[in-house]
Amino acid sequence: MKIAEWKEKVENHGCYDAVAEMLDRIEKSKLNAYITVCRDQALRMAEKYDRGELNGRLAGVPVAVKDNISTKDVLTTCASKILSNYRPVFDAHVVERLKHEGAIIIGKANMDEFAMGTTTETSYYGVVRNPYDLERVAGGSSGGSGAVVAADEAVLSLGSDTGGSIRCPASFCGVYGLKPTYGLVSRYGLIPYANSLEQIGPMADCIEDLALLLEVIAGKDVRDSTNAGREFRFVPDEKRLKVGIVKEMGGNDEVMGRFNEVVEVIKQHHEVGEVSMPSFKYALAAYYIIAMSEASSNLARYDGVRYGFALEKLDSWRRYFSKVRAEGFGEEVKRRIMLGSYALSAGYYGKYYLKAQKVRTLVIRDFRRAFEQYDVLISPTMPALPFKIGELADPLTMYKADVNTVPINLAGLPALSVPVGFVKKLPVGLQVIGNYFSENTLLNFGKQVSELWSG
Ligand code: GLN
Repeated sequence: MKIAEWKEKVENHGCYDAVAEMLDRIEKSKLNAYITVCRDQALRMAEKYDRGELNGRLAGVPVAVKDNISTKDVLTTCASKILSNYRPVFDAHVVERLKHEGAIIIGKANMDEFAMGTTTETSYYGVVRNPYDLERVAGGSSGGSGAVVAADEAVLSLGSDTGGSIRCPASFCGVYGLKPTYGLVSRYGLIPYANSLEQIGPMADCIEDLALLLEVIAGKDVRDSTNAGREFRFVPDEKRLKVGIVKEMGGNDEVMGRFNEVVEVIKQHHEVGEVSMPSFKYALAAYYIIAMSEASSNLARYDGVRYGFALEKLDSWRRYFSKVRAEGFGEEVKRRIMLGSYALSAGYYGKYYLKAQKVRTLVIRDFRRAFEQYDVLISPTMPALPFKIGELADPLTMYKADVNTVPINLAGLPALSVPVGFVKKLPVGLQVIGNYFSENTLLNFGKQVSELWSG
């Protein structure tokens, strides 16, 4: 649902009834998109809106927040048993901004455990189902954030994207999702998985709403040392662009069929060429080495003492520590902690981690060269249609599904997923990649593509 449609509803029925109706829909939902629903809080805020006491650019608009983004006094689990009783004592920067603009936080969205996954199947709270086919996944790791926007269980949502986690569920759920330039949105209060790769970003049902949510969450924050200190303002334009198709990013026949149709439409208004990125051959491997290395270090803080899940009996420290972690973490998280520790270990550091960082530099160079020639680059967001639940049983096959999305995170660039209709009744997404801080170009191009496609 678009903000404009929500506002009409609120005008006709009042915010309280509109929110109550949404909460009922969530309660009856089969999607499993929320870990926590903030029922009482949301209704109180709606009453406040009806009394004219809630102001701001998102006043009275229900927003879902991914469950790895800290919300003061509200359960923030990262979809992990180890944080299953964790209530942060502070709000993330983005949550402060939402509250400042009068948004109603309606709930905490389900996700892969610690954002490690592509299908939300690693969640301790169970898989999120795809709104278009309940036997299929909604994507991941921000599966809940994608599904709620598609199914009117929120108007807007926040996700986080370390290697595709906003764009994948946007693509699989047929909504818009943006991974901002690294540093545009403060990560203060985002529970880290791989700090050098991730960004919080918006998901919405149209470009204007996506742009507005980005305007709200982007900006200066001294509490994140990587914050760029820049604001974002959406300025509509209709420039003719040079568009590069990335040869190394593809998909199966179903996805490519649609992608090629979209390219034909884009050609009517823009100059389209092809570009080759030789380093992408190694990007997926480099991404997983770096992401797992950072994860292994980040996740060392969960010891059953300082946060979350704890055991009754404290025997020796070592035994307690391993027991808490053995019980508290799921299989995929453990796999990554082990592989990451291995890649960082003294004997193998040069062979894996250092090499991955070198590949990262090559990826950045390839992008730099491409942007000397093109304004935006395009590819299918995901190489396949939404997977059946359980279809990606082995981890490597799952990792391979991220092939089109991870190079962007290695380089810290912004990328947008635009829904481009359905194939076999399942949504397909177009990925649009831009140069650093070119979110405005991406959003305007995304808007044009949507209009051309639907019209
Ligand atoms: N699927 C990727 C991973 O598991 C990306 C996850 C993400 O962006 N958080 O690392």
